[in-house]
Amino acid sequence: MHDQRIRLRFAPSPTGFLHVGGARTALFNWLLGKKHNGTFILRIEDTDRSRSSDEMTVAILEGMKWLGLLWDEGPYHQADGFARHKADALRMLEAGSAYRCFCTQEEVEARKAAAARESKEAYHYDRHCLLRVSREEAERRAAAGEKFAIRFRVPEGKTSWTDAVHGHTEFDNGSIDDFIILRSDGTPIYNLAVVSDDIEHRITHVIRGDDHISNTPKQILIYQALGAAAPTFAHVPMILGPDGKRLSKRHGATAVGEYKD
Ligand code: GLU
Repeated sequence: MHDQRIRLRFAPSPTGFLHVGGARTALFNWLLGKKHNGTFILRIEDTDRSRSSDEMTVAILEGMKWLGLLWDEGPYHQADGFARHKADALRMLEAGSAYRCFCTQEEVEARKAAAARESKEAYHYDRHCLLRVSREEAERRAAAGEKFAIRFRVPEGKTSWTDAVHGHTEFDNGSIDDFIILRSDGTPIYNLAVVSDDIEHRITHVIRGDDHISNTPKQILIYQALGAAAPTFAHVPMILGPDGKRLSKRHGATAVGEYKD
């Protein structure tokens, strides 16, 4: 925070109204931005097109404005970055930190079901296409038009960061699946899109809900694979109802618009 101005973002998915928990996350970002004379960016994460809607985007923008949480840049739309997301995935493929996976969903599901019969442990992709399909064969099959997804090759070891709220936080990479970063239709998975966009937007601090903690090691691995510095992460607690469960409609109003009404 010395010579570099801080850049923050609030990145809601327009799959629902602006939730008070989301508004609170936005508030923390906005406040830190104000304190340090930084830049607060609004990014609409609309990569999941089937679940996103323009109506929700409008409701989010209106909720933010009503609360006075005005942004300095944006709103950016994540879907506008599809070409860059794909290019980043291909860069990781080229470098060997990702690989093509030709397994169909049915095949993966069948192996998962077979594994569940043998052990109760969470299923991890068995690396079929990393171990049994050579790079040459993968290239040949791709060139012949066979569909493939791109999976991140999770290295051995541990991934850790100093969370601005939780302090030292560490995950054993063995607990992380070789997750898909690019679907076979060429669209990015959230963990890829978010890192690609945060690099593009030169985000210095990511303040978001605790529900994202398990995504953070995957994202840090992607930063490393892309040769970019990861931002500071701060995971803030969820808002809970009186029963200790995550605040939901069962507890009453959760959409910012309902408070306005
Ligand atoms: N779009 C994500 C969500 O609405 C947030 C992503 C992030 O803050 O990194 O949960």
